[in-house]
Amino acid sequence: MSTKIPLAGVIGSPIGHSKSPDLHGFWLKRYGVKGHYIHLDVAQSDLEEVLRSMPKMGFVGANVTIPHKETVLSIADVVTDRAALIGAANTLIFRPDGKLYADNTDGYGFVENLRSNADWTPTAGPAAVFGAGGAARAVIASLLDVGVTEIRLSNRTRIRADALRAEFGTKISVVEWVQAGSMLEGAMTVVNTTSLGMVGKPEFNVPLEALSPKAVVTDLVYTPLRTAFLENAARNGCQTVDGLGMLLHQAAPGFERWFGVRPEVDEETRQVLLAK
Ligand code: NAP
Repeated sequence: MSTKIPLAGVIGSPIGHSKSPDLHGFWLKRYGVKGHYIHLDVAQSDLEEVLRSMPKMGFVGANVTIPHKETVLSIADVVTDRAALIGAANTLIFRPDGKLYADNTDGYGFVENLRSNADWTPTAGPAAVFGAGGAARAVIASLLDVGVTEIRLSNRTRIRADALRAEFGTKISVVEWVQAGSMLEGAMTVVNTTSLGMVGKPEFNVPLEALSPKAVVTDLVYTPLRTAFLENAARNGCQTVDGLGMLLHQAAPGFERWFGVRPEVDEETRQVLLAK
């Protein structure tokens, strides 16, 4: 067995804002793992060369973020079905056989966040998804995976929602952005995947008249933690789940594969990121 200290990191550009090193650093310390996790600012033009060199330097894997999540699929030797379906990877493993393995754990993080923080039955009824960007792809793939049979989708730029319907199939129906509130009628899972509501962006102001108090409502935005959308849904009597848990849960499978310990996502872990 190798005695090298395992290295991992998050690759993006710019990357200084990423909280992943704080999270993995906390887990490394908590579980007494001798390893390191660092920021890696890599330009698009250098990505392949950097990825091919990393195993020689002791890297066992990496997370990938903007702008490399899609490009990395064409560089990887093995792409999991879910990463291919989502069209992006966020977790890489440098296998002992030299192969670069690319996976996507965003959908897992999304589902695990709802399972851990709400009394959520995915099959209780239709889902309403706002937004059709990269995050929406992972959300839709994972909702279909856990058995949701009807997903209503609305996006400001309709053509992006239509493209997702064409890819993911007839369980998806597209609603005009100006009528997005109508998707809430009878919806049991409600998800904001747009960047609206984020610090510095306009609020996400969908009319909530049709929202059932039985719905579980979540926002992928986690700065601020409690968006106006979540607060309004909570006032309506809904269970609400913030986006930070998705970020925490998507990180756990990578940590386990690289460092050999399945990390627990708990209140202490949340507090580490909130303190940053
Ligand atoms: P993206 O690919 O850039 O998509 C952005 C989405 O927001 C698109 O649907 C876009 O609509 C919509 N949007 C942006 N500005 C808008 C506006 N003024 N009015 C209406 N819609 C608007 O980004 P992404 O990667 O999907 O990320 C979306 C959000 O999810 C971000 O806030 C990100 O931080 C968050 N996120 C959180 C997690 C987590 O772990 N919690 C993981 C991934 C992403 P158009 O198509 O019309 O532009």
